[in-house]
Amino acid sequence: MTKLIKGLHHVTALAADAQENVDFYTKVLGLRMVKLTVNFDAPDVYHLYYGNYNAEPGSIMTFFPYGRIGRGTRGIGEVNFTSFSVPVNSLAFWMERLSSFNISYDMPQKRFNESYIRFQDYDGLGIELVAADGDLRTSQGMNGIPDEFAVKGFYSVNLNEIASEKTIKLLTEVMDYSIISEGNGRFRLSADGNKAGYYVDMTVNKNAPLARQGAGSIHHIAFAVETEEDQLAVREKLMSYGMNVTAVLDRNYFKSIYFREPGGVLFEVATNPPGFTVDEELSSLGKELKLPSWYEPHRNTIEQVLPKLSY
Ligand code: ZN
Repeated sequence: MTKLIKGLHHVTALAADAQENVDFYTKVLGLRMVKLTVNFDAPDVYHLYYGNYNAEPGSIMTFFPYGRIGRGTRGIGEVNFTSFSVPVNSLAFWMERLSSFNISYDMPQKRFNESYIRFQDYDGLGIELVAADGDLRTSQGMNGIPDEFAVKGFYSVNLNEIASEKTIKLLTEVMDYSIISEGNGRFRLSADGNKAGYYVDMTVNKNAPLARQGAGSIHHIAFAVETEEDQLAVREKLMSYGMNVTAVLDRNYFKSIYFREPGGVLFEVATNPPGFTVDEELSSLGKELKLPSWYEPHRNTIEQVLPKLSY
C-alpha cells in the first residue's frame, strides 16, 4: 500500500522572550526566518517560523514566544530532544561556534552510526546536531556560517515516554513508520524513505517526572503529507484506529489535523502545499509580518502590541 507520511514537516515549541528566540535560531544556529506571523488563536503572540533557505518541510522549527512564562519541566510524555542534521565533519565547527556564544554543550557522543552534540536553547529546549552522512539536502549558510557546515533540516525527534508499545504500534500500523534500529533503550523508527528528517526516536523513562509545558517545551510535532487527499486518507485511518482527530484546519501555509498519541505527545499531520511562498517571494521570506486575512483589519493594533524584533 502507498505510504502517505513523508517524514517530519515541522516542530512547534514554546519560548519566553521573542528576541532571544530569534537570536538563538538565526544567529547561533543560522536558520532562516522563513515566516513572521502571529498565533492564529492569539494574535498578540508571534508565531516565528525558522527553516533552511528554501523553507522546506522537514526543516521548519516554529515557536510561540509567550514573553513572561515559566520554563517547562523536562520529563516523560514529550519530545525531549529535537535533532538537526549537519554535514559530516562539521561538529568541530559547531562546538567552536557554540563556545563563541557562551553556550555550553556535551562533547560529541556516538549513537547508532552517527556522532552528535547536545545543548539547549536559551529557554532550555533540548537540541542536538547530528553529523549525518548521506543527507542529500543542500544547505546554505547564514550569519557567517559557511555552506559546508550549515544546518540542513531536521534529523529526528526524540519521544520520551513511560512506555513505548502503544506509540510504536500507532506509528508502525497506521502512520507508515517502521523500526529500523534498536539499542541502549532507544528505538529508531523511520517513515518510508529512511533518511534524515524521516526519523522518530523513542526512549522509555519510568522514573522522571511528567513533562509540564512551558518555555523550552515542544508543543507538538507535525508529520508531512504530499496532498490534501493523502491527509484525509490518514485522517480516516487514524479515526478507524480510535484516535480522536480534529477536523482539517487551514494554517495558510499548510492544512493540519491534530490528535494526541497514546504516550501524550500532540501529533499533527500537515500538507506540504501550499508552502511558505504562498504570500511572499522565496527571496524575501520572513521579512514582513504576515497576518491571516481575518486579522488584516487589525494590523495596526497587532503591530503595536508585538515586540519589535531585529534579525
Ligand atoms: Zn503545527
